[in-house]
Amino acid sequence: MKKYPDRAGAPSREPPKEQPRGNTSWYFKGLRRRPAKRIGDAGDGRGFLHSLSAPLYLALALAGAPLAACDDGAAADPVTGSEPSGPGGGKEDRGGIPADFAPRVASLALHLDVGELRGEAQIELEPSSAQTVSFEAGGLDIDDVWDDAGEVRWEVRDGALHVMHPANAGPVYVDYRFRVQPGGEGWAKNGSTVLWPTFCGNLFPCHPDPADGFPFELAVSGYGEGLTAIYPESLPAEAPPYTLAVAVGKYTCEDLGQTGNGTTVAVCWLPRGKTKALAGTKPLVLAFDWLEQHIGTYTFGDRVASVAAAWGESAAGGMEHHPYWHVATTEMDLPITHVHEATHGWFGTGVRIACWEDFVLSEGTTSYLAARALGAVTDRATERAIWKEYGETLDAVIDDEDVVVLPDGTCGAVDLLADGLFTNVLYMKGAFFWRAVAGEIGADVLDAVFARFYERHVGEAARMQDLLDQVREDTGFDPEPLAERWLRTLGDPRD
Ligand SMILES: [Zn+2]
Repeated sequence: MKKYPDRAGAPSREPPKEQPRGNTSWYFKGLRRRPAKRIGDAGDGRGFLHSLSAPLYLALALAGAPLAACDDGAAADPVTGSEPSGPGGGKEDRGGIPADFAPRVASLALHLDVGELRGEAQIELEPSSAQTVSFEAGGLDIDDVWDDAGEVRWEVRDGALHVMHPANAGPVYVDYRFRVQPGGEGWAKNGSTVLWPTFCGNLFPCHPDPADGFPFELAVSGYGEGLTAIYPESLPAEAPPYTLAVAVGKYTCEDLGQTGNGTTVAVCWLPRGKTKALAGTKPLVLAFDWLEQHIGTYTFGDRVASVAAAWGESAAGGMEHHPYWHVATTEMDLPITHVHEATHGWFGTGVRIACWEDFVLSEGTTSYLAARALGAVTDRATERAIWKEYGETLDAVIDDEDVVVLPDGTCGAVDLLADGLFTNVLYMKGAFFWRAVAGEIGADVLDAVFARFYERHVGEAARMQDLLDQVREDTGFDPEPLAERWLRTLGDPRD
């Protein structure tokens, strides 16, 4: 997520002005009682633009109805609040299925009907001896849960789904309903999703832990005629749970070009957004190519796009939904925002953070590298302007929001939002920290350190300390005094 232009604080979740039309009359064809398709059986994995004119969705080309019609109406759950128990579970089982969030998700296959607000999830877990498995499901109404052996006992308790299912006994299948989230944390009225940082449980049963990465397959149906849904049919590499996203709207997309590695870079805009979109993405192909050449091979497919997200007029920034990351319509003309979200493909999404304590590994490193990549493919004046803006952003927030940006004495104890880590102070101090390191060892030497770190950890969760160690290991330079100044203490190191 790029936050820094929004100096007012938390990102806005403005109710959108335009509401997409959803198809509410399509009969929901569930996968109930039979195994869903398995990860790996997907088509060509090149899903991108999806529209009702595509053959896959010809059958869905029925009359659309305003999505708002099912907002809290048709989708309202008569048993919300009553916490239903599943088959085999009655009142006597309340509290009877032990919670166990430890089994990691190995893969997810998800079908979302955004007209009916229904979802079908097939969740495969990493091998473990766990006999039950739990998922966050606070925004869901669970209808049915089963596995390859048939019905399983399940229970919804305190916003979580607990399932009597051994982790090594194949996938768990869940049929459920989700809701339009008025605050935008999940499926929003504007036709797009934002699960960051911990709201995946509003869209599918999940573990919001940023370290719990998984590849996924995704299918979306139920949106109105004339609309386009943008989402990857498959994400081939592990990414944090908040990576999954869909955007539905009247999109137009254009290929911008191809990188040396053969990655096609595109941009998608909403009505009246073409001029800004093309202006903001002018350097995007070159910047993406720079990242591929200097940091490493991109792992989320051979087609990427910057997608305009209608978050409202006061919203800012973007969101790293690789390979089709979202950029606020208000910032579609800002190259740094496009490059920032693209750069997360290497840091934050490619190498994901082990815990929120390491948030600066994602945002500080990305803010630094986005300035570096954009500067490298444009001119020094552009790069200087970015650093000037970074400095002004830090000026604007440091008095009110100063925080120790790397509180890494723990892992998993810090709440990103409640503990104040989600602040521009972290983004900017992280960026300036890396610039200070580059000043000592050379920016090109630091690029090479990032590249080796990326090669070592891509597809995994890592800690910021791992990267600091890599600097010393590769260059002999000890970054700890700079880390102490910029990341581990309060105050403005520029003073
Ligand atoms: Zn970001």
